[in-house]
Amino acid sequence: ALPAHIFRQAVEQSALAISITDGDANILYANPSFQRTSGYEQQELVGNNESILSYRVTPKLVYETMWAQIKRQRPWNGLLVNRRKDGSRYLADLTISPVVDEDGNTTHYLGMHRDVTEVH
Ligand code: FAD
Repeated sequence: ALPAHIFRQAVEQSALAISITDGDANILYANPSFQRTSGYEQQELVGNNESILSYRVTPKLVYETMWAQIKRQRPWNGLLVNRRKDGSRYLADLTISPVVDEDGNTTHYLGMHRDVTEVH
């Protein structure tokens, strides 16, 4: 089997901004790319909700659709308007995957996003 430290190195070195949250989107882990993309340090992110990244212009319906989907244990992909620590705005292409345990319960969410401001 692939050693656990390879999983960690792969996630740590990913060009995608990767985070792992609890079931309410409270951040438990953010990789270095997430820190570079958002402008926040790891210790500022951990314990905060992912909503810390919201620029507060994404329609509520987008979030409702997202939550309805991931609560049903389906992945969700979409574009969100995000805010960096310095207040600047970026467009995030985000995919959220539920992490499901052996009993079929969602324990965590895996978030992966990249800044697509230039693309759009
Ligand atoms: P709220 O008014 O709190 O929520 C808006 C609507 O979302 C609510 O009416 C409700 O329908 C739904 N909702 C919110 N929280 C929950 C919950 N715990 N359970 C069920 N339904 C809920 N948001 C971003 O703006 N940018 C991101 O980059 C981002 N990344 C995320 C990554 C992951 C892995 C996850 C799980 C979530 C992410 N979110 C992100 C969503 C974020 O957690 C918030 O739900 C979102 O920012 C809206 O927060 P709010 O306080 O503005 O709105």
